[in-house]
Amino acid sequence: MHNPYQDAVTQLELVAKRLESEYEDKKRFQTAISLLKTPETLHEGMLEITLDSGKKQSFKAFRSQHSNVRGPYKGGIRFHPGVTKEEVKALSLWMSWKTAAVNIPYGGAKGGVIVDPRKLSTTELEQLSRAYVRFLGTAIGPWIDVPAPDVNTTPQIMAWMADEYERMQQESNTAHLQNPLASFTGKPLGLGGSLGREEATGLGGVYILEELAKKLAWKRKQDITIAIQGFGNVGYWFAAHAVTAGYKVVAVSDSKTGIYDPNGLDPVAILASKRKTGQLTAASPLSNQELLELGVDVLVPAALENVITAENAAMIKATTIIEMANGPTTPEADEILAKRNVTVIPDILANAGGVSTSYFEWVQNLSGSYWSKQMVLEKLQPLMTTAFDAIWSLHLAEKTTVRLAAYQVAVRRVIDALFLRGRV
Ligand code: GLU
Repeated sequence: MHNPYQDAVTQLELVAKRLESEYEDKKRFQTAISLLKTPETLHEGMLEITLDSGKKQSFKAFRSQHSNVRGPYKGGIRFHPGVTKEEVKALSLWMSWKTAAVNIPYGGAKGGVIVDPRKLSTTELEQLSRAYVRFLGTAIGPWIDVPAPDVNTTPQIMAWMADEYERMQQESNTAHLQNPLASFTGKPLGLGGSLGREEATGLGGVYILEELAKKLAWKRKQDITIAIQGFGNVGYWFAAHAVTAGYKVVAVSDSKTGIYDPNGLDPVAILASKRKTGQLTAASPLSNQELLELGVDVLVPAALENVITAENAAMIKATTIIEMANGPTTPEADEILAKRNVTVIPDILANAGGVSTSYFEWVQNLSGSYWSKQMVLEKLQPLMTTAFDAIWSLHLAEKTTVRLAAYQVAVRRVIDALFLRGRV
């Protein structure tokens, strides 16, 4: 089994080799790098809930707080049967680089619970969400650690969590000191959520796609074909906005099956039918592996990590990969893709639209002033394109992969903050 945390450390070591020459004090630089390999705090515990049957059941839970050197810890919580400690640790490192890559004032963290939420009733899911907040207790809060949705966690789950956080504050008579709504992002609009947050990750990826189209001088958008693995919140919104922008989405898939039509798909209609039947339906279904190897221009992994590996990297026909999932490409696959001149826009840049809009939500909660959707998007687009431009220029100037360029920008910001604080 691939260890995503080991991959995250390998990526950090690769960028350290490139960055070292920029730092005079090599010893101090190396101390910073070794510090950044390990999360600052790892919370681990069991969440017990009472099932509808009256039986008790416990679920393993984690929160990895990697770095708060640039601001409060920030990152989602995933509910998935495949969650592991190593995965959560890796994801927390990637969050630190992501918030630094787009230069928003946060650190990095990630949470996870080993559970298949589809097997829980709504009341069981609510209990689990509230238990997760109790498990973290005072380790989270608007100026400490601000969780958000990730795989299988929804605005409703964030609402329960924010409510539980507020109850805890009331119990300890500290509610007047905190702004409970700013303790979680990705909340529903009726409870302090931000306009634009739900679609922000997918839309942010399409902003990057549009910038890339300019840099690579793509002529006719309608000739650019796209395959998307994953049809959750991220994959769906990427597909919908890509089609609106004029690109041709020819394939999408969820965890069970895929749909392919060389003439182009209508994501809105596919979502409507998935909602009705509970699954993607296709005349001639496509496996996830077949989707990854389709002869398309752009491949968009938008589900889980470790899908582009040393085993299939040579078979990928797309010339561009936009990583909307976190960690979809292993370092070995990255090397193969780089040799084959496949342009990979890394996760820490491509999917940063979500956490960036989380930042806008948090700012709105703290200030008590709410923005129109237009205002949100007017801030999101320049934030994404500025980050893209800086990283793209560095990639050209240093003849390096876009991932290494993004890591160079991000890790440098984190190290500089460590130096400024005198933590190393
Ligand atoms: N889970 C998302 C991510 O991986 C969003 C995190 C956030 O908004 O804090 O970027």
